[in-house]
Amino acid sequence: MVRLTFYGGINEIGGNKVLLEDGGRRLFLDFGFPYKRHKLFYEEYLKPRSGAGLLDPLTMGLLPPLAGLYREDLETPGLWEQFRGHPLYRQLEPVDGVLLSHAHLDHSGYISFLKASIPVYATAVTAFIAKAMQDSGKADFDQQVCYFNPTSLDSPAGWKQRALLGSAGVPKQQRQFCVGDIAPGSLSAEAAQFWSHGFWGKMAKQKEFASCPLESHSRSSFSLRCFPLDHSVPGACAWGIETSSGWIIYSGDLRIHGKRRRLTEKFIEEAAKLRPGALILEGTNVTRDTNVAEQEVYKNGLKAIAYSKGLVIADFSPRDVDRLLTFLQIARDTGRKLAIAPKDAYLLKTMRLLEPETPDIGEDGSLVIYQDTIASKSPAIWMRNIFKDYEDKVVLAEDVRSAQDRFILCFSFFDINELPSIRPGPGSLYVFSSSEPHDEEQEIDFRRLHNWLDHFGLKGFGLPRELKKGNGNSEWEIPDEEKGLHASGHACGPDLLRIARGIGPEVLIPVHSENAGFYVEHLRGSKLEVRLPEPGGTTEV
Ligand SMILES: [Zn+2]
Repeated sequence: MVRLTFYGGINEIGGNKVLLEDGGRRLFLDFGFPYKRHKLFYEEYLKPRSGAGLLDPLTMGLLPPLAGLYREDLETPGLWEQFRGHPLYRQLEPVDGVLLSHAHLDHSGYISFLKASIPVYATAVTAFIAKAMQDSGKADFDQQVCYFNPTSLDSPAGWKQRALLGSAGVPKQQRQFCVGDIAPGSLSAEAAQFWSHGFWGKMAKQKEFASCPLESHSRSSFSLRCFPLDHSVPGACAWGIETSSGWIIYSGDLRIHGKRRRLTEKFIEEAAKLRPGALILEGTNVTRDTNVAEQEVYKNGLKAIAYSKGLVIADFSPRDVDRLLTFLQIARDTGRKLAIAPKDAYLLKTMRLLEPETPDIGEDGSLVIYQDTIASKSPAIWMRNIFKDYEDKVVLAEDVRSAQDRFILCFSFFDINELPSIRPGPGSLYVFSSSEPHDEEQEIDFRRLHNWLDHFGLKGFGLPRELKKGNGNSEWEIPDEEKGLHASGHACGPDLLRIARGIGPEVLIPVHSENAGFYVEHLRGSKLEVRLPEPGGTTEV
């Protein structure tokens, strides 16, 4: 009998944390950041106190109270006594690993709280993207997926003293990553160097890759299968775990309408052959009937941008490398240059180590790097090095201002405060290629974005507009003639049903969905049994 416990990802999109237990063996399927619950209590200027370690996320229900699972250096004195009476409290040891599906924070973010001795299984691309995100990101303590600065527990004054001394002088700790899709020894020397020391020899050191027990027959570890997938970040995969109840498949996030759709088709075929006992399947977009394909984004984007006489700003999600390449192609086809952020440059440089077909910024005549006017006056080391590596590729606000029809600028809402330095001229366009607002906070940001565009006379394209309803609520809608500029990372309802039926497990368990009942409704009368666990609930297979 295999027990599955759902500590996150039920009735919410993201925050997946599924515990799989088979005898004494235990694995987590993802260990993600719970955006929805986090937003109930926190916002940008009200965050869990980093100095309080595990206390805040445990108390606010962002992390399950599982003693033995987390970094000991984040335990405040007497921490676990406070949670002994909690209905979900358990001593959980040992855990054999986390199977990470992809490098989106709602799947990977809270790995930062786990003990360093728990290995993370991922594709090589996912591991590299996670490291690139951390190397080039904010040093927030809840985003330290690949490595972290432990706080010292040596002195009896412990916690109090740590608060005073900080972590200066304590060596970084690294998590063990085990790759599921390549042999660890097959990394190029350059790629291995990046993983262990970073690009410039001064970045955080990282343990070498270990291999994944793909065909293990020992009792203490699982046999695993890693299935590469199509999703809105490269390196995504599904996992198959061989258990005493047969194979259990975990989908992560997936679609069949992106550039890598063939990978998902192959996953359906291969997973079906295993005749799985259970399939844990995402359901983000179950209520959508159709998808926009990445190829349509290219066509629609090209149409809009080809006629633009001024500056073009393209707003799409960071780390969506496929979308970046779509806009790079549009830039080539319209004689413009695509100006990317230093973070994106870092990511492309990283991706090229594993996927050599990724454009080389140094060589590609259509790629440049935009240097922020104020923030990069005193850049972090990684950023300084990016500017140094691609010295003749750096453009400033004045370069863009004086030749506006020569650029597509990759900006998101949070870069929009650069506009006073750029001063977009007449005929400029803001192309929105991302998802519509999902909650109140995002609605407020969208209203602000509209204000910015109005203020600078920028025309929005593909941007959701607010329609006030009689009951005081609003709906956000993209004008019909501007639709088709965003291909979602998630399969639509009919595609998800095709995946479920194609794999044909005995039991289907939806996760990562606010409408899991869709599967019950549409699979009624079929051979598939659909189970809907409660948040924190357990089901046996
Ligand atoms: Zn995702």
